[in-house]
Amino acid sequence: MNILVLNTGSSSVKFQVIETNLELIEKNADRKIASGLIDRIGSESIITFRVHETGAAFKQTAPIRDHKIAVDKIIKWIVSKEANLNTIKSLNDIHAVGHRVVHGGETLTSSVLLDDAVIREIEDCIELAPLHNPANLKGIYAVQEIFGKGIKQAAVFDTAFHHTIPDYAYLYAIPYQLYRRYKIRRYGFHGTSHRYVAYRYRTINQIAKEKVNLITLHLGNGCSICAIKNGKSFDTSMGMTPLEGLVMGTRSGDLDPAIIQFLTLKEGYSLAEVETIFNKQSGLLGISGLTNDMRELIAEADEHDDRRAKLAIEIFCYRVRKYIGAYTAAMGGIDGIVFTGGIGENSDRIRQKVCEGLDWFGVKMDQNANKNLNAGKEGKFSASDSKVALWVIPTNEELLIARDTVRCIEKITKN
Ligand code: AMP
Repeated sequence: MNILVLNTGSSSVKFQVIETNLELIEKNADRKIASGLIDRIGSESIITFRVHETGAAFKQTAPIRDHKIAVDKIIKWIVSKEANLNTIKSLNDIHAVGHRVVHGGETLTSSVLLDDAVIREIEDCIELAPLHNPANLKGIYAVQEIFGKGIKQAAVFDTAFHHTIPDYAYLYAIPYQLYRRYKIRRYGFHGTSHRYVAYRYRTINQIAKEKVNLITLHLGNGCSICAIKNGKSFDTSMGMTPLEGLVMGTRSGDLDPAIIQFLTLKEGYSLAEVETIFNKQSGLLGISGLTNDMRELIAEADEHDDRRAKLAIEIFCYRVRKYIGAYTAAMGGIDGIVFTGGIGENSDRIRQKVCEGLDWFGVKMDQNANKNLNAGKEGKFSASDSKVALWVIPTNEELLIARDTVRCIEKITKN
């Protein structure tokens, strides 16, 4: 089956076309056919398409008004003579579409084929993810319009992997009726990424799902950490929204909620302005005053010995270590730590800095192995006598979305 995977953001649409089916999944032989991105929807958009069979890349800029036009452009390109894909010549050769959907709330706890009732449930979750779910829905509506309602579409939720978190870990210690009334609780995000790297770890090491206690670190522009106990998500750092937890590119992560009122009084900010500060002007950017980009921060620290760039990196790594300690205690020990995401996959410096503080419970790094694991490589970097295995595993959310779409069609449940 050729699956179109769509990841629709507020002003962008990312896609991949992946050939997969139950047999290919079993053999881990799924094939990426094409991928691309339309960025800055609503203005002069930047369009990048790539054919994986040939390596051919197509770049252009064009005004793209909305998501429907963006999805239409992607689909027209996939079946075009320009793309010249071997196995896809018309709309009939795209067999199903898998969507990344950020919030599934308490009810959508596994990947699911879309029908009107499920779409309504995703719409009901908009108040929990007002920035993300509406964008995801635009992708779903666009596909319905372009293909007609007959096309099979599946939704794969960022929150779903975390539905196994126990109540004592997902509840906030605020009046219980607020949870009952408004479903205020930890949901967690990046679930597809944490689930994928945990699956890869088990597959590479040939360990049964129930036998693994892992910490997975998704460190990108957004960052989260997940405690995976006996193969299931047991706790995670992002909360009701993706603001809680680790220090991120522009998000603060954990802070004292009393700061909100303090800022409204001192600076005269509205609540919306405070939220914008915590989401868009904090994290690495806020501390350094320079950039949200870890690569640039490391360069600033190295080339100019910039104090605040160094401080931002220090705070970032300290928060990660603190969570690793907490989750190790919460699970009663761990077998391994897996790094993924743009920073986790590419920065041996950050991995080293995080792991340096963990020797107290037997984490020992192989420095050379760590240095050699960048730019999309998968591998182990713990020393042979380390009590905890250290791995870099590049994430592949799109692959999991394509596979889940096939499983939904074939009616196989997997988490
Ligand atoms: P993502 O959101 O997963 O694409 O990750 C984006 C983050 O990864 C940005 O902060 C990048 O600066 C960071 N990143 C990518 N490559 C490197 C690298 N070689 N060293 C440090 N950070 C990197």
